[in-house]
Amino acid sequence: MSSSEEYRTKCPFCSVQDDLILRRGNTKSALFGPENLFGLYVDKRNDRGLCPRGNFVVELLTSPYRLRKVMLNGESHAVEEAIKECSYKLKEISKEKNGVAILISGNHTLEEAYLAKELATKLNTELIGLFPFEDEALLTVKNDFSFTEISSSDMIFTVGDIFSHSPTMAKPMIDARNKKRGNRLLYLDIVGGRISPFAQSYIIKPGYTAYFFSILLDYVKGMKKKVELEKTGVGLSSTSIEELKSSLKNSKNGWILFSNLYGHFRNPYSVVTLLEEIAHETDNHFAVIPVGQNSLGVGRIIGKLNNKKILDGLKNKTIKGLISFGGLPTESIPHFNDYRKQLKFILSSSVFRKDDFPGYLFPATLSLEKHGSIMSLEEEIVSVGEPVPPVPGAVSDGVLISELIKGITGEEVKAEVLKLNPVKKKEGGAPSAPQAQEDKRFPFMLVGVGLPYHHGNGEITRRMIWNEEKGGPYLFLNTSQYKELGLSKKVTVVTPYSSSLFEIGNLNESSYDIPEDVIVVPVHYPECMELFPLEVDSDHILSPGVVKARLEQ
Ligand code: SF4
Repeated sequence: MSSSEEYRTKCPFCSVQDDLILRRGNTKSALFGPENLFGLYVDKRNDRGLCPRGNFVVELLTSPYRLRKVMLNGESHAVEEAIKECSYKLKEISKEKNGVAILISGNHTLEEAYLAKELATKLNTELIGLFPFEDEALLTVKNDFSFTEISSSDMIFTVGDIFSHSPTMAKPMIDARNKKRGNRLLYLDIVGGRISPFAQSYIIKPGYTAYFFSILLDYVKGMKKKVELEKTGVGLSSTSIEELKSSLKNSKNGWILFSNLYGHFRNPYSVVTLLEEIAHETDNHFAVIPVGQNSLGVGRIIGKLNNKKILDGLKNKTIKGLISFGGLPTESIPHFNDYRKQLKFILSSSVFRKDDFPGYLFPATLSLEKHGSIMSLEEEIVSVGEPVPPVPGAVSDGVLISELIKGITGEEVKAEVLKLNPVKKKEGGAPSAPQAQEDKRFPFMLVGVGLPYHHGNGEITRRMIWNEEKGGPYLFLNTSQYKELGLSKKVTVVTPYSSSLFEIGNLNESSYDIPEDVIVVPVHYPECMELFPLEVDSDHILSPGVVKARLEQ
């Protein structure tokens, strides 16, 4: 009998959740060869295939950097002992209401999210929030999405570079564009992205997107105000608004899609609210494509937009303990060291080693090493698949949370699965007015983007350990402007919040079409994230967008 193994699971890297198959030969055979290693296969039923990031899954799974022990300040601890210590400490801190904050990444199963919420209750805290932070602004939306129907649509209007953030989405979108003569693919963004060559592009001045959509909404509602776009500084002409309006109104089966990233769109909550209304007025479908695999599901279980409260608690020093499931706060919270001193207790789980982490670090599993369910972009609850055996030592966050609850209360808990509704809409969502005045101290706009594909050296995992190996960070800017300015290879980017030394990336290799006076940085580097303020925007959403900047040599 063959003892080969096959696991049908889902790609853990983004909310498109593409199906993938991992296979290996007889692992018990005394003979060892390539057939005993994991091989990656694509399910033929998934005609989108996998993007280079998805192809990276085996390297991630078997990475030598995987964390396999509980670490505390660089020393390894037995799991049981660490859980006992953490439970005791958490019990003490949680005597005070909201003394502990929990952050959970969108890469968890629904069951784990329910358990995390239960843990919050046991810890006497309402402070449970979602990261990546940019996904929080999307939680009030109920997605109207279908892969099959998108392929046959007559118009897609994408806001944000979906081809970069979720590359296999290119397949149904290009299929739709090629279906019939006259089918439209429209793209609006603040720098030209991977979609640009295939679409009619509208590149708007960074920071003006919400304002532009407020005008577009008035147009589609027939409340034409006399706004001469040329005078507002948005960077688009008045004809662009007429073009967009007629494309949106004339479509029979059209879609508006929104995709964002840290440091990119300012006021994403306003953008999403306005796009939803525009879709409604023009009778088009509307969907958001989050960064995290299951951000929509995890965020809905949390049920509230809590990240602002967590940030306030960190700033006001009322939070004494921080738990971060599925990612290091040192990487996800820019300037974390400023908050760290006030914290008596820090616990995080991570799939990668981080030897100098300042707290308890538990070895986590990837979603493809877990049982459980996730919510799809199509608003269905689906199984994450058949779990690959986890690397030795790693525990799923679901198990960790259950054990913590048991340690704190003595109770065994079971995740309860309830109906998942979008988070209640909040007040506001009004577009921020453009700031047309020139700021001579900061003549550039700094924009966060995703990386070009770096399959192989692991950069795309956004993990710091890989970044250190690769070197960096680096930036891109408009090629002609770079020549004009006569800059050398290394420059300092200064924003009103921070500054950092950068190497200028190979401009010919950049997949972005960068307008003048715009600097682009890949935001998986903590040095890049720190240039954007971790403050709430005018919608009171913690989702850093573009900031003004200057270059110094
Ligand atoms: S598009 Fe997203 S889900 Fe699909 S393979 Fe790439 S990273 Fe994975």
